[in-house]
Amino acid sequence: MTWDFSTEPEWEQELDWMRDLMREEVLPLESLGLDHQTFMKAIRPLQERVKARGLWAAHLGPELGGAGFGQVKLALMHEVLGASELGPPVFGNQAPDSGNIELMAIAANEEQRERWLAPLLGGEVLSAFSMTELGTGSDPRQFKTRAVREGDEWVIDGTKWFVSNADRSAFHIVMCVTDPDADPYRGQSMIIVPTDAPGIEMRKLGILNDPHHVGPVHDHCEVNYRGVRVPAGNLLGEQGGAFTLAQKRLGPGRIHHCMRWLGVARRAFDAMCERAVSMSVHGSLLAEKEFIQDFIALSAAEIAAARLLTINTAWKIDQVGASNCRVEISMIKYHGAKVLHNVLDRSIQVHGSLGLSTDMPLQEMYAYSRSARMYDGPDEVHKATAARLIARQYAPREVPTDHIPTRRAAALEKYRDLFDLVSAQ
Ligand SMILES: Cc1cc2nc3c(=O)[nH]c(=O)nc-3n(C[C@H](O)[C@H](O)[C@H](O)COP(=O)(O)OP(=O)(O)OC[C@H]3O[C@@H](n4cnc5c(N)ncnc54)[C@H](O)[C@@H]3O)c2cc1C
Repeated sequence: MTWDFSTEPEWEQELDWMRDLMREEVLPLESLGLDHQTFMKAIRPLQERVKARGLWAAHLGPELGGAGFGQVKLALMHEVLGASELGPPVFGNQAPDSGNIELMAIAANEEQRERWLAPLLGGEVLSAFSMTELGTGSDPRQFKTRAVREGDEWVIDGTKWFVSNADRSAFHIVMCVTDPDADPYRGQSMIIVPTDAPGIEMRKLGILNDPHHVGPVHDHCEVNYRGVRVPAGNLLGEQGGAFTLAQKRLGPGRIHHCMRWLGVARRAFDAMCERAVSMSVHGSLLAEKEFIQDFIALSAAEIAAARLLTINTAWKIDQVGASNCRVEISMIKYHGAKVLHNVLDRSIQVHGSLGLSTDMPLQEMYAYSRSARMYDGPDEVHKATAARLIARQYAPREVPTDHIPTRRAAALEKYRDLFDLVSAQ
């Protein structure tokens, strides 16, 4: 397999179409401060255009109406549509619905597909993924939300935390302990719970970028399940299979997250460069000052490196599957989030107080982006995973492989004939 860094001309045309749609139709909506309902109404015609173009929910396999583009094309696509939080819903691939659809594609039975998956695929309803419990999100083995089988029903009790769109969705996929005595990795299951089931209470949570929870795309809730009863048939996949399913859900999704972050970083970078060539202080343009040149040069290199790393991971997933790319998937998560933060921070700095003001989108992008180091597992967990898997590739040695005296002795032995010859002359 050769290295090829070019994009197929046909796909470049599609990317151009997406860029136009984002620039002409989606980005203008950002400045209107729309609420969720109005936003969803406003994007309906845009969603129809995306569907007609064959780009709706493109991350799905052909069996679910996606085009089976593969991760590299999807990565490039997400870089374009992810430049704004408003882009993914227009293209039918916003979290958590995109991941939930993938999960259901793997695990849902016929009845579940018809009742829950079909309307989700069509963009008619939203869904929520209810997994995290306060203070244990990094270690799901500690989750306590319990589902007990009573006759033909599951009875669910527990409290979940930071469930995106819990109150806007038609159903939650809830991770529950179904066998407390089993190995922690085999004792939890996923269960579909309709949002209007009796016994569910929700409290909206403010967040850094949206303290009053009025975000057009996402809000977040603490969710109490108190004796919530659902039919036994709402079990998604195997009993005890939650961990395996959760892993499958998060693999390729991280590529999409990272490429969206790069879309945002690129916007912040463009704004920084535009500012640097537009503003003159103390006798010269900002772009001519070494501090600012350092910002521009570092940001350009960081974006390029993160982009290559992410696209290379996408390519590798296409070759060998996500389960064989765990190191790369973890690396792009913490590296991409850091690059996003760095570039936004520098761009705000170059804009001065204007960058911090709500006259520019940078402060909102910055606040929104802080979460990138947290969701889908905090950076520290991904670093630990990458380091653990990398370290496994090495064997302990009493004498370092590169120990010079040892190597010299071996080299003298190997080339003894040569030395014998030289000393004989
Ligand atoms: C915007 C947003 C949307 C979200 N949406 C959802 C959703 O839809 N559904 C859902 O279930 N959850 C959701 N979450 C929750 C998210 O998955 C968790 O925040 C994340 O997994 C971390 O869990 P935690 O917040 O409980 O952190 P904790 O587990 O309390 O960890 C706190 C800190 O401890 C440190 N730490 C943890 N483990 C290690 C380690 N091994 N080594 C070193 N340090 C460590 C890290 O610094 C970490 O940030 C969302 C979060 C955000 C911010």
